[in-house]
Amino acid sequence: MRLYNSLTRKLEDFEPLDPQKRAVSLYVCGPTVYDVPHLGHLRSAYVFDVLRRVLARRYEVKFVRNVTDVDDKIIERARKEPDASQDLNAACRAVSERYLKAYHEALAALGIQAPTHEPKATEHVLPSTDPAGSKEGQAKVQGMTDLITQLLIKNVAYQAGNDVYFSVRKFETYGKLSNRTLDELQSGARVEPGEQKQDPLDFALWKAAKPGEPSWKSPWGDGRPGWHIECSAMSVKYLGPVFDIHGGGLDLIFPHHENEVAQAQAAGFPFARRWIHHGLLTVNGEKMSKSLGNYITLERAIADGGSAEAVKLFFLKTHYRSPADYSATKLAEAKKNLDDFSRFLQHSGQVAGAGEALPAAIAAKKQSFFDALEDDLNTPKALSCLFDWMNAGQQLLDSGSGAKAIADALLECAAAIGLSFGGAGGLPDAEIQRKIDDRNASRQSKDFKRADAIRKELEQSGILLTDTPNGVRWQRK
Ligand SMILES: [Zn+2]
Repeated sequence: MRLYNSLTRKLEDFEPLDPQKRAVSLYVCGPTVYDVPHLGHLRSAYVFDVLRRVLARRYEVKFVRNVTDVDDKIIERARKEPDASQDLNAACRAVSERYLKAYHEALAALGIQAPTHEPKATEHVLPSTDPAGSKEGQAKVQGMTDLITQLLIKNVAYQAGNDVYFSVRKFETYGKLSNRTLDELQSGARVEPGEQKQDPLDFALWKAAKPGEPSWKSPWGDGRPGWHIECSAMSVKYLGPVFDIHGGGLDLIFPHHENEVAQAQAAGFPFARRWIHHGLLTVNGEKMSKSLGNYITLERAIADGGSAEAVKLFFLKTHYRSPADYSATKLAEAKKNLDDFSRFLQHSGQVAGAGEALPAAIAAKKQSFFDALEDDLNTPKALSCLFDWMNAGQQLLDSGSGAKAIADALLECAAAIGLSFGGAGGLPDAEIQRKIDDRNASRQSKDFKRADAIRKELEQSGILLTDTPNGVRWQRK
């Protein structure tokens, strides 16, 4: 498998940290929960879901995606809550809980698998142990204040008033990930009013509490962590001092990821071995924003005539490292493609026969599908295999022959990237069975939220499930 590494700016063969164990550790920066997610957030979640699924064919994947539930934007949003003036803390909690729920619901609607761990920033400010964490990681870092203390001891951080800052000039390789020199960074650096930085390049590890805002007791006084420290601390805590892959959007390379590297490595942890960044999403060529009225949520995309699966197909059509541009026309096109797939699958289910002498051709095609995915997640190329298949299968059907073998292979490949073909002519039997298997697996791993989402999704496609002592039975409405 080859993956592009943003750190070396090269395509590299992927070798996990511990090839013997066949395990891969992956950390992805998750949402800051102050609003409903837009399609940019969902693209990010789906890119890493596909990566995880592709890796999972070869390795056991430990996937950590954090939740930033304390942040200026959350506090700002919480001030608009009706009872914010009485208890801003409770308002912050209400806001972050509400929008984390909205994030989970959107991901469940897209069939995106839950991470192995989803640590919340607010639960990792102070040291605590977690049986699910990495033993080696927790021996070094249990909470964000542990890491800040280590940076102070190593003299790469300093206290100024009740704030703590990281001394960027004391970390020699600063700028390596984002490929910038200190001189370039210097010109963009600023000292905000109230900050007591020694150097405009420095960034906050700990910020003194402001009246009414969420805060924690620390050796430096009451306050809250800077944003960057949570990911360094939580990745080490759950994955250990060194792990395979760190991912996020291109907009996070600087300063967020650059600062994550600085904090972790200055404390003595090798940290992420490779970095994966995905391109950003625009809407009709413009950056998404509420003020422009182009803040596209999943709900809005569905109202535009799309569906959860059409949104995913739209994402797959662009390579993850490239920018993607959303438009209602492109979504409608993806929806039409899905309907074509559905019709073909429906049709293939009605004609007897697996199809003529195709096993070798099917195996070769399957190989090229997975080869494309393993070549830096080339989803546009992988998708073209599915389209070729459908066209070849349709020709067989038109000539009166069966095409079940092609249909099954198509479904198997689509399932490997979390894509399913509901809609138009109803779900084909094999697809229903696949979803039921997926639901059973979710229930076994106690991911009841996902199991429930699958049941609901099937129900919306007109399939009713009945759980019996002998397993699940299904029928069409
Ligand atoms: Zn992060």
